[in-house]
Amino acid sequence: MIYIHVPFCKRFCIYCDFFSELYSEEEAERFADRVCEEISARSNEIDDRVKTLYFGGGTASVLPLTTLSRILIALDKSGHGGPYTEFTIEANPEDIVERGVNYVRSLCALGMNRLSIGVQSFDDNLLGWMNRRHNAARAVEAVRIAREAGVKNLSIDLIFGLSNLSDEVWEDTLDKAVALRVEHISCYQLTVEGDCALAGMVRDGLYEEASDELCARQYGILCRKLAEAGYHHYEISNFALPGFEAIHNGGYWQRISYAGFGPSAHSFSGKRRSWNSPVLNDYVRTEETLSDEDCAVETIMLALRRDIGIDAPTLEKLCSKEAIDKLIAEGALRKADGRYSIPEDHFFVSDQIIRKLI
Ligand code: SF4
Repeated sequence: MIYIHVPFCKRFCIYCDFFSELYSEEEAERFADRVCEEISARSNEIDDRVKTLYFGGGTASVLPLTTLSRILIALDKSGHGGPYTEFTIEANPEDIVERGVNYVRSLCALGMNRLSIGVQSFDDNLLGWMNRRHNAARAVEAVRIAREAGVKNLSIDLIFGLSNLSDEVWEDTLDKAVALRVEHISCYQLTVEGDCALAGMVRDGLYEEASDELCARQYGILCRKLAEAGYHHYEISNFALPGFEAIHNGGYWQRISYAGFGPSAHSFSGKRRSWNSPVLNDYVRTEETLSDEDCAVETIMLALRRDIGIDAPTLEKLCSKEAIDKLIAEGALRKADGRYSIPEDHFFVSDQIIRKLI
């Protein structure tokens, strides 16, 4: 599993805490030089047992095709080139619409077989408030263009849990998402983190964070609507038409080794975790070795995010019988077919449930 962090955006969303700089062609070329060097220096860390490639960011779709090709050639030279079981590129709707169907066809020709579009909302007021580059019509157009180009596995991201997002607008966004019949939908609750613009707005009294009650209600609406539309709620924040569950992200939840390249990218190999510093081009790497306890906590936290949960012997070995029995009695955990899992109606409070276990 390979992750490439593309640290550029053309505009910054008010809630964003990812590492990203303003896009420029020269910086993108320097970034590609550095990533190609890094791939060649660390190729022995790439584990192809789950053969996926994921370009995230930032905004991966700002990269020129020639720059993207250079990185793919570096992967090829390192012995870890395509075809990949799943090759995802994250894209901003505006990049797809501006660059058109031939751009997406070229991505497909380079081996991309999954496009993840950052839609976030189908409400223009909310998109404007977030400082997104696109509006709702451009998001719909981006999906149309991707289909015209032949993309068979499309994912969109949506955001809920904002104090200025009404239930009606959220329902409308979900209706529009479902109408597009994309194969995969990721829905994230807005959190105000780090020193993003929204955090400043909270400090200045210009934005009040949504209540837990509102977030829980909107999460409930999400679960109901997407179930009605035939989506499989396979992970707390992720829904897929059957057979389109994400393979790359699925690997993270199963603690499969991955190698991350580019500034702020993380890597993992069994007992070692490392991350590049969030600095353009001159980034350095920090490593830590996980203790048995760290590994156990991670295993539980990640496995219980998925609807299939964790196999019973593993959880029983890692947690006390008393804690497990208590959660089962409360309906917060269930056991079926030799596995423990959190029922969907308790997904929203999964953090609290996991805390009781570890
Ligand atoms: S949310 Fe995505 S597009 Fe917006 S600033 Fe962050 S990385 Fe860039």
